[in-house]
Order: sequence, then structure tokens, then C-alpha cells
Amino acid sequence: MSDERMKVLIAGGGVTGIEALLALRELAPDRVEATLLAPTPEFVYKPLAVEEPFGPEPATRLELAPLVAEAGGSFVQRGLRRIDPDEHVAELDDGSRIEFDAAIVCVGAEARSAFTKAETLHPSGQPIEIDALLRRASEHEFGRLAFVVPATGSWPLPVYELALLAERRARELSLEVRISIITPEPEPLIVFGRLASDAVASLLAVRGIEVRTSARAREEADGSIVLGPWEERLDAGAVVALPELRGRAVEGLPADEHGFIPIDEHARVLGVSGVYAAGDGANFPIKHGGLGTQQADAAAEQIAADAGVELKPAPFHPVIRGKLITGAESLNLQADIAGGGGEGVSSLDYLWWPPQKIAGKYLSAQLGGATPRPVGPPPEHGIEVEVSLDREWHREPMALDPLAPSDSAGDG
Ligand SMILES: Cc1cc2nc3c(=O)[nH]c(=O)nc-3n(C[C@H](O)[C@H](O)[C@H](O)COP(=O)(O)OP(=O)(O)OC[C@H]3O[C@@H](n4cnc5c(N)ncnc54)[C@H](O)[C@@H]3O)c2cc1C
Repeated sequence: MSDERMKVLIAGGGVTGIEALLALRELAPDRVEATLLAPTPEFVYKPLAVEEPFGPEPATRLELAPLVAEAGGSFVQRGLRRIDPDEHVAELDDGSRIEFDAAIVCVGAEARSAFTKAETLHPSGQPIEIDALLRRASEHEFGRLAFVVPATGSWPLPVYELALLAERRARELSLEVRISIITPEPEPLIVFGRLASDAVASLLAVRGIEVRTSARAREEADGSIVLGPWEERLDAGAVVALPELRGRAVEGLPADEHGFIPIDEHARVLGVSGVYAAGDGANFPIKHGGLGTQQADAAAEQIAADAGVELKPAPFHPVIRGKLITGAESLNLQADIAGGGGEGVSSLDYLWWPPQKIAGKYLSAQLGGATPRPVGPPPEHGIEVEVSLDREWHREPMALDPLAPSDSAGDG
């Protein structure tokens, strides 16, 4: 290995971009020179955006420049426009160019409103005005405030958190409002496994929140929302929707029909050498920060190995961890989602450590200000059993089904 450091370009200063940077610092501090690009100067801790409408505190924001510098990288406040995979050159939105040996594309997804007459949760925008919506719903003939997940899906947790927090707020305001969740999922939060889903369903029932599952909400020409497959009109005094997520296809890289970048189990962009992608912008079907960090870690390990560090790069093995904000004690959920990975688990106790809302091996410690240590079970708690990911998942990621039996369970 020569003294020359490997030049790594990270595009994106969100959850996965920061995780990739921190992972490289940890794994290959002397062998990699990292540059992180982002068009905005701040890291926004999006999961806390669900609490913005319910309290005075905005979601946590961190200045990227000092954070990147502290991690030994250079920050460039610019967007990525294009990648030339043959020349290993990135073109930025001001026309300037950066050469790289390896690049990790972590540009997230574009969040689009799916319904014109609903309020849409935009984590970096104005918080929804929940008190006004609850009042409007309570005065309406149906007395209902509906929280809708678009038919194409969205992030898994926030619709449940918003509904639970809204139910609590309605009680505080002494308003009579029926809170409903409309979701295409076959069961509430089934991606976290059967046991966790049952626990969430019980919690919602106790709080009087109705859930309409397997519902494909679409908009009519007049702006009303119809629920398929029953072709039933959604009767509600007010509607809050999650956005639809679309990939930000990067010129020069492959993308699926929705703009998401196809990756393999080491987060390598399919058919492109030296370029990786991770997070909401990649084609893994579940958009969740913790899973994005696991893809970023897989990419960082592969890059560190290529830079000469002695390690065997581990493939991305998705274990989903979610801390559901309920308006009372948070409910911790965890499941191996590679297929046939058991029933999942839910607990009021911590299931991982540090107990951040986004469970990232390196990011959690950074966000918590704690001493860096890998995400794992908390000291006094039990063991997590992992089952290997179907080797073929990356060829057909949309077909991933957490409830399906896995052919590969236990063989790798
Ligand atoms: C309300 C809410 C609650 C959530 N709760 C949880 C939770 O509890 N746990 C969990 O794990 N996940 C949760 N999520 C999901 C999680 O926030 C996302 O999955 C995660 O932020 C995705 O990370 P990312 O780095 O891929 O994208 P982002 O975090 O969106 O970051 C993308 C970055 O790329 C930058 N960028 C955009 N375009 C370009 C470009 N052209 N060039 C360079 N940079 C660019 C952006 O400025 C940004 O810095 C939640 C999401 C929301 C909205």
C-alpha cells in the first residue's frame, strides 16, 4: 500500500452520508480521504419531525461543516449533478468536478405530496398545524382525522406516531375526534414482525385509534380520497398524509422506474465499479434510517478493504429497529427482515444501545454524544438472533416479504 490515500466522495449529508463518513473514519482513518457533499448546510434529524407539531422544539439540526471536519473529512456545500463512472469523476451543481476512487451516493429520496387536499408531513418544512386540524375534524359531521399512507408506501413509523400523538392532543384539548390510520400494509407495522405488529395493534385499540389496513388510497379528480380495493370514499373532516417517496436518479448511474439506484448486498451500484449507494435513494424497498446506515456500513467496509485495511467486508443484513413515539412510553421494535427471521420483538425496555431513534452503528453515538460503540443489545438485555439474507434479494428487492419462509435461513 502506497502512502497515497484513497479519495472517497460521499454525496449527501443525511443519516446515511454521515454514517458512511463516521464508518470510514473508524475503519480506515489513515487510508481514506473523505469529501462530503450536500446542497444544504445542516444535518436534519428527521425522525424527530413527528414531534414538531406537538411541542415548541424543532427537530434537531447539526451544522455539517464542523461535524464533517471533526470526522476528518472536507465538506463542500454543493449538490451532485452527475457521475462519470468510467472516469471516476463527479460533476457538481456549479459545474465543478471532483475526482474520486470510490463514491457513496446517499442523496435520500424526494418526498412528494400524494393528495392535493390533504396536509402532507414534510420533515424539513413547516410543521402541520395539529390543533387546527383536530378542531376542524371535531366540528365535521364524521368527526374524523385520518392519517394516510399513500398506496406506494412511505417511511414505516411516522403515521403511527402522528396518530398516537394526535389522539393524546385531542384529549388534552377535550375534543371528540375519531383518529384513523389508512395504510396499504396488511397489518400495522408488519415489517417489524408478527409480535411487534400485534403489540402495536393492541396499543392502537387501547387508544381508540381505528386502523384500515390493505387500503390503497388514491385521489379522484375532485381531490377526494378513495380507498381501494373497496372504492370507498374516505369520510374525514381533515386528512394528514405521508409523502410518496421517489428516487433522485443521478445522471450517469442506473435507476429503476421510480428513480431509485439499484444496489447489491455490499451496497455497490449494479454494473458500476467503485460507486456505492445507500439509504432512501437506493432501491431497498423499506425506507428507514437504520437500514440505510447498515447499507452505508456495508459500503464503508468494502471501501476500507479496497484501501488495504485487513477486514472481511460484511454484506448488508437488514435488521430493522424502531422506537415508536406513542405520547407515553416509547415502544421499541426490532426484527430481522431478511425473510423467515422470526416473529420480531417489541418492548418498553431498550432493545439496542445507544437507544437512539435511528439505530446506526456509528451515527447513534454521534447523535447521543456518547462514546462510540457499535449498535447492539443494551448491556443487561438479551440476545438478538439473526438469520441470513436471501442471497438473491438484491436482484428483486421489491419482492422482499418479511413473512415468507426463507430458503437461505441459517445457511450463511
Ligand atoms: C417523520 C419521520 C420519522 C422517521 N422515523 C424514523 C425512525 O424512527 N427510525 C429510522 O430509522 N428512520 C426513520 N425515518 C426515516 C429516516 O429519516 C430516513 O430513512 C433517513 O433520513 C434516510 O437517510 P438518507 O441519508 O438516505 O436521506 P436523508 O436523510 O434524506 O439525507 C439526504 C441528504 O442528501 C442531500 N442531497 C439531496 N440531493 C443531493 C444531491 N444532488 N447531491 C448531494 N446531496 C444531496 C440532502 O441535502 C441530505 O443531506 C423517519 C422519517 C421521517 C420523515
